[in-house]
Amino acid sequence: MKKTYWEEELEGFNRESLENLQVERLNKTLGNAMRSPYYKKLFKAKGIKPGTIKSVAQIRDLPFTTKQDLRDNFPYGFLSLPKKEIIRLHSSSGTTGNPTVIFHNRHDINSWANLMARSLFCAGVRDTDVFQNISGYGLFTGGLGFQYGIERLGCLSIPAGAGNSLRQIKLMQDYGTTVAHAIPSYLGRLYEVFEQQNLDPKKDTLLHTLVIGAEPHTEEQRLRIEEMFGVKAYNSYGLSEMNGPGVAFECTYQNGLHIWEDAFLIEIVNPDTLEPVPDGEYGELVMTTLDREAMPIIRYRTRDITRIIPGECKCGRVHRRIDRIVGRSDDMFIIKGCNVFPMQIEGVLLKIPEVNTNYLINLETINGIDEMVVNVEVNKEWFTGDLRKLDLLAKQITAKIRDEVLAKPIVKLVEPGTIPQPEGKAVRVKDKRNNGLK
Ligand code: AMP
Ligand code: ZN
Repeated sequence: MKKTYWEEELEGFNRESLENLQVERLNKTLGNAMRSPYYKKLFKAKGIKPGTIKSVAQIRDLPFTTKQDLRDNFPYGFLSLPKKEIIRLHSSSGTTGNPTVIFHNRHDINSWANLMARSLFCAGVRDTDVFQNISGYGLFTGGLGFQYGIERLGCLSIPAGAGNSLRQIKLMQDYGTTVAHAIPSYLGRLYEVFEQQNLDPKKDTLLHTLVIGAEPHTEEQRLRIEEMFGVKAYNSYGLSEMNGPGVAFECTYQNGLHIWEDAFLIEIVNPDTLEPVPDGEYGELVMTTLDREAMPIIRYRTRDITRIIPGECKCGRVHRRIDRIVGRSDDMFIIKGCNVFPMQIEGVLLKIPEVNTNYLINLETINGIDEMVVNVEVNKEWFTGDLRKLDLLAKQITAKIRDEVLAKPIVKLVEPGTIPQPEGKAVRVKDKRNNGLK
C-alpha cells in the first residue's frame, strides 16, 4: 500500500537534503515576503535581495520580527497576497491593543494540515483512532488547526470544542474515543468530573493517548495526566504566528519535541544579545516560516525559552528536537490557555472607582488547577456593613477581567495596605503554580 508522505518522512530526509530544501524555501519565502508592505519597505532599506541566500547561516543577516511589528502593521501590513487569495485568518488570544492576526491562502491551510497530520502520526496516532478535539473552535488555532490534521490523517474526528466536561465524557463513551487533545490544565478538572460520576477514565474509556499543549506544563504534570487517564500524553507546541499547533511535537519516545524544519527555520538566541547560543543551551526560540505564502514571517522572536536537545532521536527523524518551553522572555503569562498581560488587568481594575491602585496577581495551583487569583485593594468602607455588597463587587470585577482576558479569575478584595509593597518597582505577578514560570 502506498504510504503517505508523513510516513515516508522518516526515511525520506537526511540532514543535507533538508538543509538544501531550507535554502531553497528561504529564498522563495523572502520573495513572497517582499510583496508585503512591511517587508518591502524593510528589505529595500536594508538592501536585502530575495534569491541571494546560499546557506541557512545567512539567516543571521536578516532582521528580526517581533509581535510589536505585527501589531503596528495590523491588520494587512504583513500580507503578501491580494485579499482575494486569502481564505482564512486566525488571531491570537487576549492581547492589549491590536490583536495579532495571521492570514492563510489555500496552500498555507493545506501545508498546515499536512504538518498537523505528520505531528499526530509522530505521536503514534493512526487513521484507526477516534480523535476528540477538546479545543475552542474559532479564532483560536487549536480547534481548526487540529481538525484539519485529524481529518488529513484519516481518524474519525469529534470536533467537541472546549469545556462542558459531562458532555466530553459522554462523547468519549458514546463513540469510543481513543485519542483526545486538550490543554493540560483542563485535564485535572475533567478528571474530577469523571470521579464525581463514579467513573474511572482508565476503565471506563478507550483512551490510549492524550495530546497536551498550548500552555507551559512540567514533566510532573504530564506524568500525573498519564496516571489519571491511563494514557501516554504527548507535548504539542505551536503559536498562532507560526500557524498554531503543528510546529513541534513529541514522538513516541517522549524525549523532546521534533520541530518541523522543512516548514520552519529555527534559531535559539540569547534574548539580551540576540546572538545564537550553542546547542543544548537555553535561549529564545526564533522562527522563520519556510512554507507559507500569504504571510511569511522572518526571524520571529517567539519569546519562548527553550533549547535544542543535542544528538539524534531514537525514532530516526531528522528534524531536531526542542525541549519543553520553560518560560517566556517577557511578562506575559498563560492561564487556562489564554495569554494574559498584567497591564490588561490593571487597565480593567483602574477603571473601577472603588479599587485603589494596589493589586497583585497570584498564579496558583488550587486543587490541581491553575488559577489566577487577583488580589485587589478596595476602600475600607466596603468592609463595614453589608458584606454582600463586597461579594457583588468581586463578582463584577471577575466578569470584567474575564471579558478582557478570556480567563476567569478568582478575585479577592482586601483592605487597603494589605498587599505588600516591594521597594523599587512594583511586583504585579507572583507565579506560585506547581508548573508555572517561576
Ligand atoms: P497562541 O498563539 O495564543 O496559541 O499562544 C502561543 C504560545 O503558547 C506560545 O508562544 C507559547 O508561549 C505557548 N505554548 C504553546 N504550546 C506550548 C507548549 N506545548 N508548552 C509551553 N508553552 C506552549
Ligand atoms: Zn523522535
